[in-house]
Amino acid sequence: MHVIVKTNQQENAVPTQAAPEGDDDPFDPGSGRPQSPAQSASKRSGRIVRFPTHRAGILNPAVRSFRKKHFPGITTKLWNDWQWQTSHRIRSLNQLEKMIVLSDVERAAFKQSGTTLPLGITPYYMSLVSPDNPDQPIRRTVIPTIHETVHTTGEADDPLGEDAMSPVPGLVHRYPDRVLLLLSDFCSTYCRYCTRSRVVGHGAIHPSRNRLERAFAYIEQTPSVRDVLISGGDPLMLGEEKLSWVLSRLRQIPHVEIVRIGTKVPAVLPQRITARLVRMLRQYHPLWMSLHFTHPDECTPEASRACAMLADAGIPLGSQTVLLKGVNDNLETMRELVHKLLKMRVRPYYLYQCDPITGSAHFRTPVETGLSIIRGLRGFTSGYALPTYVIDAPGGGGKIPLMPDYVVGREDDALILRNYENKHYRYPEPCNR
Ligand SMILES: *Cc1c(COP(=O)(O)O)cnc(C)c1O
Ligand code: SF4
Repeated sequence: MHVIVKTNQQENAVPTQAAPEGDDDPFDPGSGRPQSPAQSASKRSGRIVRFPTHRAGILNPAVRSFRKKHFPGITTKLWNDWQWQTSHRIRSLNQLEKMIVLSDVERAAFKQSGTTLPLGITPYYMSLVSPDNPDQPIRRTVIPTIHETVHTTGEADDPLGEDAMSPVPGLVHRYPDRVLLLLSDFCSTYCRYCTRSRVVGHGAIHPSRNRLERAFAYIEQTPSVRDVLISGGDPLMLGEEKLSWVLSRLRQIPHVEIVRIGTKVPAVLPQRITARLVRMLRQYHPLWMSLHFTHPDECTPEASRACAMLADAGIPLGSQTVLLKGVNDNLETMRELVHKLLKMRVRPYYLYQCDPITGSAHFRTPVETGLSIIRGLRGFTSGYALPTYVIDAPGGGGKIPLMPDYVVGREDDALILRNYENKHYRYPEPCNR
């Protein structure tokens, strides 16, 4: 394994035939460049394959009309600049009121001091939010409601007991061979159901050299760690230089076989996926990514294009989805989501039962809801479309898979099984008497 890692590092030492820095803004689908992306890609190294021209030209009509209405005079180039998107996040009640008609439960959230997670929504993601329907799934995931301030029994700020398993601030070591490294607590868009709402958006976790060096030292001294999961906050909100430094430091540790990045950027800020970012990331293979998609409405042409660029860079993409009441807790929505993910070359990885985080009661569903969704997918659609349904056990037990029962029982030496159509079958077990 180490030999493979070394080989990669040697390859990395050779500068890639990088295109001039000036082309770092490929996310420009509407600018009517004279050269098609396909032509320009072949002129370069030919290693970064651009999204097909006819698709790249499509800007979501809803996105376009939102931009015209609320950001008139903003050019496509600026709109597609991730730093512009980040600095123009919707962060206050005042801004929100100009864009959507708030319901009473939404407005009440701003009158209460009990909400702990800040408000933050990129203009791009805001353009997907319904201005007049407070029950629209995407809207429910990012617009606070008074329900967030309701504390129910069994809920906690840190239900997964992550703080107790942190040998170094921002590093969680729960499983024998892998660690979770929180880079920063910043996200461009805050999900109202965030598991880490106790830390996210509060300025508590900084990507400071000092803290990260302590984390790297811990990993260096712990040879059992072969997999490092970088999360946060959103790691891709860091600049290329800082991120590249983190990845290269991890790559210098011989026993770290794979690195994973957990991010919601392709869904909430697809403009962040630039040719420059992708060129940097692909130097650190084997690199995997866990994306975070919640609803099929997030699978826009913009998100597709971001995923295509990552997939073309050889990064295997998985998706983690939280099961949320009134958002994605029915078979039709989930089926549409997993199908759209596969089309974007994203493999559904985990479906999470919503953690009992403080103020989450309005988002949580009974476990039977998740089981019936899995039952409705298994056998009826591609196996690749099926995520593993898990509960992250409160108290720090880790992820525990939940499966519909396909084993009905035993009869003599045979196992009685139920198939997806609820028909029974016998499997004769080997006789070892
Ligand atoms: C989810 C998680 C991981 C990764 O688990 P996988 O099942 O390997 O994806 C690692 N550490 C912590 C603390 C986690 O919560
Ligand atoms: S992207 Fe992840 S870390 Fe950020 S708010 Fe959403 S769930 Fe929390």
